[in-house]
Amino acid sequence: MRQQILGVAFDRLTLATAVERIEELVVCDRQAPALVITANPEMVMLARRDEEMARILAAGDLVTADGIGIVLAAKILGCPLPQRVTGIDLAQSLFDLGKYSFFFLGARPGVAEEAAARLQSIYPGLKIAGWHDGYFQDDEGVIAAINRVRPDILLIAMGMGRQEKWFWKNRHRLQVKVGIGVGGCFDVWAG
Ligand code: UDP
Repeated sequence: MRQQILGVAFDRLTLATAVERIEELVVCDRQAPALVITANPEMVMLARRDEEMARILAAGDLVTADGIGIVLAAKILGCPLPQRVTGIDLAQSLFDLGKYSFFFLGARPGVAEEAAARLQSIYPGLKIAGWHDGYFQDDEGVIAAINRVRPDILLIAMGMGRQEKWFWKNRHRLQVKVGIGVGGCFDVWAG
């Protein structure tokens, strides 16, 4: 069941249950890949003035509370959410499982590659099938690069809002199971 907070419907999830839901989304047969949105307070505010963002948030397959501000707002409104579930925690929990392949899309040239190299030394056996920076004009080339390797999970780090809009616009052409917007994660992992 979803919980409405400041106009956005959040899933009531712990990190562990969010990971379980993503595992279900990876295996289930669907027409288009699933979108996981980790929504922070800035995204909630953006959705109030940006109809496209509001529509994507309403249609997303999983919407988690990315930020203690959302968890506190939920508590004050009398409809508590179990915990904060950030993009970085979700991604790292999925890496821990060691089952899925990933494509990293986003950040400045070289950053996703550096992040992938560092993560592979932390998570031996982690399958990072490919990467591409987040500053491109040619959607077709990027979609082709992703579809060549057909990753289970596409991590998109192109900034809050931009990453969800790009995925949503192109989802019917992407041969992935799940897309997750992860904001600035690649910069963090690249160090
Ligand atoms: N980014 C990108 N393409 C863009 C704009 C931003 O790939 O057109 C990347 C940026 O390099 C950074 C990440 O998106 O790695 C998050 O950017 P920022 O911190 O500005 O976004 P926020 O998520 O805080 O809005």
